[in-house]
Amino acid sequence: MTGPDGEEASALLRRLPGVRAVDLELVDARLLTPRVRRLRFTGGGLDGLRAVAGQDLMVAVPASGRTHFRRRYTIRRLAPDVPAVDLDIVLHGEGPGARWAAAAAVGARVEAIGPRGKIGLAEGASWHLFVGDESALPAIFSMIEALPSGAAALAVLEVAGADEQQQLEGSRCDVALRWLHRTSAPGTGTLLADEIAGLPLPRGHGHAYVFGELRQVAAARAGLIARGVDPEDIDHKAYWRLGVANAAHGEPPRPEPA
Ligand SMILES: Cc1cc2nc3c(=O)[nH]c(=O)nc-3n(C[C@H](O)[C@H](O)[C@H](O)COP(=O)(O)OP(=O)(O)OC[C@H]3O[C@@H](n4cnc5c(N)ncnc54)[C@H](O)[C@@H]3O)c2cc1C
Repeated sequence: MTGPDGEEASALLRRLPGVRAVDLELVDARLLTPRVRRLRFTGGGLDGLRAVAGQDLMVAVPASGRTHFRRRYTIRRLAPDVPAVDLDIVLHGEGPGARWAAAAAVGARVEAIGPRGKIGLAEGASWHLFVGDESALPAIFSMIEALPSGAAALAVLEVAGADEQQQLEGSRCDVALRWLHRTSAPGTGTLLADEIAGLPLPRGHGHAYVFGELRQVAAARAGLIARGVDPEDIDHKAYWRLGVANAAHGEPPRPEPA
């Protein structure tokens, strides 16, 4: 299948070692919250697939005509023996990914490539701090749920309101969630950075993970560095960019240098 980036799935598979193509069929869809829809897929290519918490699938979401756009969605849960995979997708309104996720009906088929993503849980950290918005909740929650008992996790989470707060589904670690309710449009406020400025950080050697809107990720990371967290101990990734569609390969385009 050829996307608007002109890159065949087979070329991507050659370029990205360890990933495979999966043909997904939607078997269940339900709203987790008013703005997040959980899509459950099955598909033969999921047999035996292994992924670490936080990895994602690059889905070829249908667009007009024969083309598609690749959009990346975190693997919220993978059951390779069923086989089934859950993706939790923000229904933010604009864009081929959000439109597809809102409308997809049981039986719909879509091609995906994965698992993708290099950010995983840091070994040896005595605490783990997660920062992000609704788009980051699947990564943050699956990473927290993968932490062993005895590990300490703190998450600072920006969502639209109380009805967008989700529940962890089976964590074993010692975890505290701090929910922040935005008062402006997604991607526009400074809630995450403001919270980080006053956040009590645990003692010991921690690791931070920051995902979400491009500028908010940069601001949160800068805030953590200002608080004395070593940049080496911060993994960060922009998932989307305010007012700008993600590129055809699924990542937000970088701003031009000033
Ligand atoms: C590694 C990775 C993992 C990701 N995992 C998930 C996931 O599990 N669940 C998930 O929902 N998203 C996830 N995302 C983010 C998702 O890929 C982007 O939000 C993407 O822009 C969605 O594509 P789209 O076609 O809906 O919108 P686009 O065509 O990319 O953008 C159209 C417009 O919508 C706006 N927009 C895009 N995303 C949002 C948003 N979340 N909130 C408000 N406005 C937005 C843009 O600013 C733009 O103006 C992930 C991204 C990456 C890189």
